[in-house]
Amino acid sequence: MPAASGPNVARIFHPYGRIHSRYTSEKIMTDEIRDTIIVGTGCAGLTAAIYAARANLKPLVLEGHEPGGQLSITTLVENFPGWPEGIQGPQLIENMRMQASRFGTDFRLGHLSSVDLSKRPFRLHVGKEVLHTRTLIIASGASARWLGLPSEQALIGHGVSSCATCDGFFFSGQEIAVIGGGDSAMEEALFLTRFASKVTLIHRREQFRASKIMLDRAIGHEKIHFLTNTAVEEVLGVEQKEVTGLRLRNLVTQERSILPVSAMFLGIGHVPNAKMFTGQIDLDDDGYIRTHDYVFTRVAGVFACGDVQDRQYRQAITAAGSGCMAALEAEKYLEDHGR
Ligand code: NAP
Repeated sequence: MPAASGPNVARIFHPYGRIHSRYTSEKIMTDEIRDTIIVGTGCAGLTAAIYAARANLKPLVLEGHEPGGQLSITTLVENFPGWPEGIQGPQLIENMRMQASRFGTDFRLGHLSSVDLSKRPFRLHVGKEVLHTRTLIIASGASARWLGLPSEQALIGHGVSSCATCDGFFFSGQEIAVIGGGDSAMEEALFLTRFASKVTLIHRREQFRASKIMLDRAIGHEKIHFLTNTAVEEVLGVEQKEVTGLRLRNLVTQERSILPVSAMFLGIGHVPNAKMFTGQIDLDDDGYIRTHDYVFTRVAGVFACGDVQDRQYRQAITAAGSGCMAALEAEKYLEDHGR
């Protein structure tokens, strides 16, 4: 993996490329008060945008560091209704984006650093600008979780990655490891068999969270080997600036071993992107936004949808469904307040 290609940068190698701002309007006035601003361009945010735009709310969608959300870095989506043969995640996102644009959604790149939801209209700080809105739909999703080892952090972009579709290409013919025991890990491991000579899937327990169909596919694949009850203690290669192996510990026998690999891919779940709302709305102990009646936060006019508030289902279709609900509730709120 070239030095410049961190998990985000290298995504340009994805067959569909990165989701870009082709549909971004250049004429966004920062002093105007929007009816609704949607934070996030994943499945939830874009579905909210389609509904809000069709309701003539002229939504502004804020696009952060991970445009398109998790679907933009996945491969074949086989369980989104309406696509009997499946559809590539980035293509599904691109379709939703075009659909939202068609009805008049504005898109804007920018990192939302903080919000003030104590006054109306709500104030959103994006870079040096302040945006104003009567309703806010939070669909900021969740980002990849890391193990948190110093050696892992030092080697991100040098063989450590959370995105198989972005970075797998760099490890053709090499041996690699995937960490995790859920569907993400199985999906990453299966995808990486296209490039790697061998994939070792390392999981800290004996039981897997992955669905049976995904687990069976991984178990049945000749290139995938399993190491259970095993934790990564250190990623080796910090001095060489490239991954050379992993120091592992068997959690039952406490035995240590070295696994020579050229890359480590994380598939250990996600953390919600909700830090910027701390103190303004309620978050639970793991940082998910607390909602009631599906999409309502404790602040009237502020709604949350998708993976930033859903710790249970976390599916593309449930994110889309809650995005729809949030937009309908925002529309109703505006109507009730005389808009
Ligand atoms: P997940 O189901 O929460 O699984 C995370 C896995 O990572 C668990 O096995 C967990 O171990 C392990 N893990 C977490 N923290 C760890 C740490 N610090 N060190 C080592 N291992 C750690 O997350 P996910 O796989 O991302 O899936 C999330 C949701 O998306 C699920 O609902 C899944 O069905 C869905 N999804 C679906 C597809 C698909 O249908 N194609 C693909 C991807 C994801 P423990 O088991 O010990 O907790």
